Amino acid sequence: MKKIYSLALVLLLSSCSSVPTEQEGGMVDRMPIKTVNANYISNREPLQPQQFIKLPTGSIRPEGWLRTMLELQRDGLNGHLGEISAWLQKDDNAWLKSGGKWGWEEVPYWLRGYAGLAYLLKDEHLLTETQTWIEAILASQREDGNFGPYTEVDGAQDFWPNMVALWILQSYYEYSSDERVLGFMTRYFHYQLTVPDEKFLESYWENSRGGDNLWSVVWLYNRTGDQELLKLADKLHRNTADWTKSTELPNWHNVNVAQCFREPATYYLFNGDEKYVSASYNVQSLIRRAFGQVPGGMFGADENARMGFFDPRQGTETCGFAEQMASDEIMLLITGDPYWAENCEDVAFNSYPAALMPDMKSLRYITSPNMVMSDSENHKPGIDNAGPFLAMNPFSSRCCQHNHGFAWPYYAEHLVMATPDNGVAAVLFNSCEATVKVADGKEVVIREQTD
Ligand SMILES: [Zn+2]
Repeated sequence: MKKIYSLALVLLLSSCSSVPTEQEGGMVDRMPIKTVNANYISNREPLQPQQFIKLPTGSIRPEGWLRTMLELQRDGLNGHLGEISAWLQKDDNAWLKSGGKWGWEEVPYWLRGYAGLAYLLKDEHLLTETQTWIEAILASQREDGNFGPYTEVDGAQDFWPNMVALWILQSYYEYSSDERVLGFMTRYFHYQLTVPDEKFLESYWENSRGGDNLWSVVWLYNRTGDQELLKLADKLHRNTADWTKSTELPNWHNVNVAQCFREPATYYLFNGDEKYVSASYNVQSLIRRAFGQVPGGMFGADENARMGFFDPRQGTETCGFAEQMASDEIMLLITGDPYWAENCEDVAFNSYPAALMPDMKSLRYITSPNMVMSDSENHKPGIDNAGPFLAMNPFSSRCCQHNHGFAWPYYAEHLVMATPDNGVAAVLFNSCEATVKVADGKEVVIREQTD
């Protein structure tokens, strides 16, 4: 169904935007990618072209139900987390000043969702607060290009928190065109090139999640063409955990699987070898074959997928929902396969909302489709790992508390995408108004209405 609807909209737009007649009509599995979109920054050679091109942050105005969710998020936990989270306090915060106490993933996790909200809702208070943190991140860059709080694991820098910060800067640049971002990211990536392999992406989280860093390299390379970044792509892939094996995974942590399976498909953009795309498809399938296809698009893993625990009482960590949605959006951009849009919608509509209270003021760590309990007991070993993982709580597990907020904003930003032939495709269905440049640089406004 999705393919038909998407194509219908593409054709509708084509007919009012001077696309030659011979390109109209008919069904195709994928949009042609021989042409390069003239209006939006696309993959630059030698990168493989993408099937879809993300519109710059700020192009899509969410409406209807989705806008309500974003407003609830603003008025709920994500919008007010700075008032209750120890890691977001401004006193002695390492993301605001050198040497501060509080400085790992929490600030960028939270800010990624909060900034996204600010840019979508164009809310003055949120925009001002966002800018305070972004200015501090930009000001934190050292002489050698490194930035942010310096966290060390076993004598080497932990690059993981900065990976999240880079995604925030990308959205900020798309929204603001602030040229400082390009120089900042270039200097940081050149710094990463100077780090010896044996000290690069060695510890657990960064080693699993190097694909996030790689996606930022794609983004910057398309904007600057800096050839050094091609070397960094190889270095990142070489030092990231191997997500290409057929039946083995580097680890079975539910968030890592939902987040990291796309690393090979991202690396495919640099070398054109389709085995890397297949590898990403394989992990998406493997985890569901082995641990159950949870209704709502996920897999039975709790905190970690385990042998013998694959029934519908197993659940997903809230970070896992948000990361799976983001991965689906990226896989959709790369492959154009409607499967990823379906999976994203499945998680967005059927799983993620159940992890939060309807007012979005508290959330749960683990949500299982066939587990009606929301108590504060420890359900180990039935639910992995150990802790009060089913309780609705504004202070629930510090990763999800800070990270959940990017699920809806990123979803909203990917509702409508540009196509390589200067067209436009509605790929995720929700009420919105998208302002898009199409053929001959004409700007059209698409109003999508859904129930
Ligand atoms: Zn989490």
